[in-house]
Amino acid sequence: MMGPAHSLSGAAAWLGVGAAAAAADRPMPWPVLVVGALICAGAALAPDLDHKSATISRAFGPVSRTLCEVIDKLSAAVYKATKKQGDPRRTGGHRTLTHTWLWAVLVGTGVSVLAMTGGRWAVLAILFVHLVLAVEGLLWRAARVSSDVLVWLLGATSAWILADVLNKPGNGADWLFSAPGQEYLWLGLPIVLGSLVHCAGDAITVSGCPVLWPIPVGNKRWYPIGPPKAMRFRAGSWVELKVLMPVFMLLGGIGGLGALGVI
Ligand SMILES: [Zn+2]
Repeated sequence: MMGPAHSLSGAAAWLGVGAAAAAADRPMPWPVLVVGALICAGAALAPDLDHKSATISRAFGPVSRTLCEVIDKLSAAVYKATKKQGDPRRTGGHRTLTHTWLWAVLVGTGVSVLAMTGGRWAVLAILFVHLVLAVEGLLWRAARVSSDVLVWLLGATSAWILADVLNKPGNGADWLFSAPGQEYLWLGLPIVLGSLVHCAGDAITVSGCPVLWPIPVGNKRWYPIGPPKAMRFRAGSWVELKVLMPVFMLLGGIGGLGALGVI
């Protein structure tokens, strides 16, 4: 899928988690619902950091371009080192290492540790990166016509405001994990979820997604998971724009209302 559909599915997934949490008697305070949905929308773009024309690789100018080159090389090297005889030869690293459950869990864990131990500036940095991505993803075309600097300013000011809102007692810095010292541990959850939702979105396109790696399937370690070929579609096709995106909006809306206890 393309950036906007990935972001929208990420936001909808977090709102769904909000509804599930409310049903399980651990309701999210509204700032957790909103910030989590935005982080998840941003994190749902992150796996494409292995592809130089992806939204995320252009989002932070030379910084993300350089990171993209490093991730692409690293992914290609890991692919080559771990492929079994059934995996095809390939040159680039797109849709390999960053499109796996293991990557999702490692990045999410890293962010949780950083958020818990790094203090206010770490939380601000995590919010900033993901809010910029959420703006790029959700407001795709609108963000493209404005300058990068404006989007960064918007990300920075909203990160600052939202971090203050979260910090107020009862607003959810300690949602789900309430022991002392575990504030913001939950920030890793929307990141893991966003990555996995991205993989699910790619799995239903023609090429599939090797999300199970390093668990082998038959004689392949990079088995492209996906539905039967006839049910797959091309990234950016009308199915994605006219069917999936409205469905994500609808599901997100229902999830959000469920999370807030309206329905
Ligand atoms: Zn992808």
